[in-house]
Amino acid sequence: MIRRNLRGLLLVSTALLQTALILPAQALASAPAAAQVQPVDLNPDLADDAPERAPGQKPEPGSLEEGIWVEVGKAEHAAKTSGERNLSPDLDAYVGGVLTRVTGRYSGDVRVYVMDRPFFNASMAPNGYTEVWTGLLLRCDDEDELAFVLGHELGHFRHSHSIKTYKALRDGQNTALVATMALSVLAMGAAANAGTAQAAQSISNATSGLIDVIYLGSIAAFLGYSRETEGQADTYGLIYTREAGYFPGAGARIWQDRLDETAASDIEKVRTSPARINVFGDHPLETTRLTALTRQDKLLNGGTPSTRTPEEAKAARLAYRAHIRPYLSAWLRDDLRRQDFGQTLFVIDRLGVDGEDKGLLNFYAGEAYRLRGGKTGKPDLDSAITAYKVALENPDAPKETWRQLGDVYRRVGDTPKAIEAFNAYLKALPDAQDAWIVQDQLDTLAKGDQPATPAAPAGAAPSSTGGLKQ
Ligand SMILES: [Zn+2]
Repeated sequence: MIRRNLRGLLLVSTALLQTALILPAQALASAPAAAQVQPVDLNPDLADDAPERAPGQKPEPGSLEEGIWVEVGKAEHAAKTSGERNLSPDLDAYVGGVLTRVTGRYSGDVRVYVMDRPFFNASMAPNGYTEVWTGLLLRCDDEDELAFVLGHELGHFRHSHSIKTYKALRDGQNTALVATMALSVLAMGAAANAGTAQAAQSISNATSGLIDVIYLGSIAAFLGYSRETEGQADTYGLIYTREAGYFPGAGARIWQDRLDETAASDIEKVRTSPARINVFGDHPLETTRLTALTRQDKLLNGGTPSTRTPEEAKAARLAYRAHIRPYLSAWLRDDLRRQDFGQTLFVIDRLGVDGEDKGLLNFYAGEAYRLRGGKTGKPDLDSAITAYKVALENPDAPKETWRQLGDVYRRVGDTPKAIEAFNAYLKALPDAQDAWIVQDQLDTLAKGDQPATPAAPAGAAPSSTGGLKQ
């Protein structure tokens, strides 16, 4: 059973897979009509929105909001002290800097914690406590996309959307549910914001896989944001990031990418029902939202969509990559734990668009194929070999590439090449901790014994999945 908790309601998770169109765009400097356009002109739904809170505003004593702050304060403490928190000072400073720029005069109200979790998510609680998950950072093409996601969350924050949602729940038929949520938040540990003990463990567990979706689903179950509210947050996100000088086309693009990532999933259910399969199913994928973002951008921009040149887009990607490069390997390794290798390959493909980090990216493409090949057999194992070989043509290929290549050759029954690759590994990393294991493999292969695990079945069709090979 999926237990519900208060934190899940109050931490407004970002729309996974909100739909988007790719917005052609223009330089920010020429935004002639911005001053004349009112937010409500962009999105009539904003007329019904909750009033905007003032910077530094605190809850009234004894109010519902004050009670909520107490509860999310506990959640914040859990996040702050969580073993899943990424404590890299550089990354913390970078993400914090983006948040400061987006939040502007509200920057004194918010604090961000980067969490090592391989899912696309960010949240901003009513007390300003913000989480950014590394699966989101891995999936942003550039800082502008990260800024849009934070701007969307800031929209929920400035207009107290979660409190509005909480009140609606409380005043409705869900009294028991709210009580349950309030109780469960008290029992919540650092990594235990999960529907079941198993799910909680899986979040921290290196070998965990799809069960994480249950955990994420438990969050989604209580977000309860209406389509209207999500559309409002999109509009705010567009306005805030534009004001902060970010590229206004970024929001639509990051949602489109999530849609495309869904289509790349290994899991049929994910591919075939993109509107509901995303873990934050309360943020349905809707073309109306994409259309709205596109229309709003044009309005803000004096009638033409924002554009930037391919060179400007590339420069933005390279600048962002420089910030995340130190973590790329760890995040890709984490992403493989989700066991949706089609999606990981999609992410790797996007990361490879500028030809950066080819050794590392092809190594992880090889890993995705190798792991999937455990089930699918030869086609993916052949793709793994191809990817590892491309990786090894580049200086940033991890030395382990040789070992993994040797392992896959062994599994497809190519003993001479397996021996060659294992020897290359021992030569590259003579002091490796697992050198004795590899040597043992070599000895076994040299004797012509049966390999430890049977080779994959041969004769299947070539893999149809793309992935990064050049
Ligand atoms: Zn939202």
